[in-house]
Amino acid sequence: MQEFRYRQVRTVESAVRANGTYLAGGTTLVDLMKLNVLQPATVVDVNPLPLAQVEALPGGGLQIGAMVRNSDLANHPTVKQEYPVLSEALLSGASPQLRNMATTGGNLLQKTRCSYYRDTNYACNKREQGSGCSAMDGYNRMHAVLGGSADCVATHPSDMAVAMMALEATVHTEGPNGVRAIALRDFYVLPGTSPSIETVLQPGELITHVTLPAPPHGTRSHYLKLRDRAQYEFALASAAVVVQMHGKHLARVRIALGGVGTRPWRSPEAERALEGREATAGNFQKAAAAAMAGAKPLKYNAFKIELAKMALVRALETVTQMEHAG
Ligand code: SF4
Repeated sequence: MQEFRYRQVRTVESAVRANGTYLAGGTTLVDLMKLNVLQPATVVDVNPLPLAQVEALPGGGLQIGAMVRNSDLANHPTVKQEYPVLSEALLSGASPQLRNMATTGGNLLQKTRCSYYRDTNYACNKREQGSGCSAMDGYNRMHAVLGGSADCVATHPSDMAVAMMALEATVHTEGPNGVRAIALRDFYVLPGTSPSIETVLQPGELITHVTLPAPPHGTRSHYLKLRDRAQYEFALASAAVVVQMHGKHLARVRIALGGVGTRPWRSPEAERALEGREATAGNFQKAAAAAMAGAKPLKYNAFKIELAKMALVRALETVTQMEHAG
């Protein structure tokens, strides 16, 4: 690990002024510093910031502080009751120990688990622009089938972000140029020719909180994750579904997929294929086909296309058969 300066800050303003790499739960940053993948000159410890509250918004909806730990968010009564997809996604991620440390802001910004990115013996455009992508001709079983480029096909690893994408979350930030509210669907950028740029955040910009809109009356939601083992494993494919039913018809549908895209993957194609239609197995399969129509498999990951379709169909079956609790 390279030498770095360490600063602890107590206000958002001093965090932004410190102009360094933010340290929250440390579950990604410290690992990657030990591996020499990330070598920040200054680490700014934001743990003392007063951003650890989950609060109801006056007009409905929820405000989640960037420092709220994943385990606290997953077990928050309002999240469990009104946003079960988020609670389920959080509880499907990592291990209890990691969830106790990992934060909302850090989870959104966690780095890919591409093994070539984490090993400095291999070429990786995300780590060092222009060095090449070892996954392209390497063992790419875990890599993306949606949103990849010739320069990078790494998946985004977050479960929480997939659920938040389907819940139409907004990310709130403060930076050298003031405060911003960024719709989560606009927050992540595709790798293109600059895979090291993963979000629209500017240098020094700090996530302060995330807001979720109030779920429309009668909304049901669910997160389904398929993976190689039942615990402590990243998704091969996952589906977050948020639906509002009118009788047997799907009035409003929001869908996001995990494990298959270079960013948490919202699917307007699947949503359009379902809205206004009856909740039937046939329509679910059409929506799943629409969601994965643009998929481009690599040598070892073509199976993810069918797996993602299955995850989405099963999640839709589960959520539409569910009795609404409210
Ligand atoms: Fe690096 Fe992306 Fe290629 Fe993985 S897929 S080796 S992160 S450039």
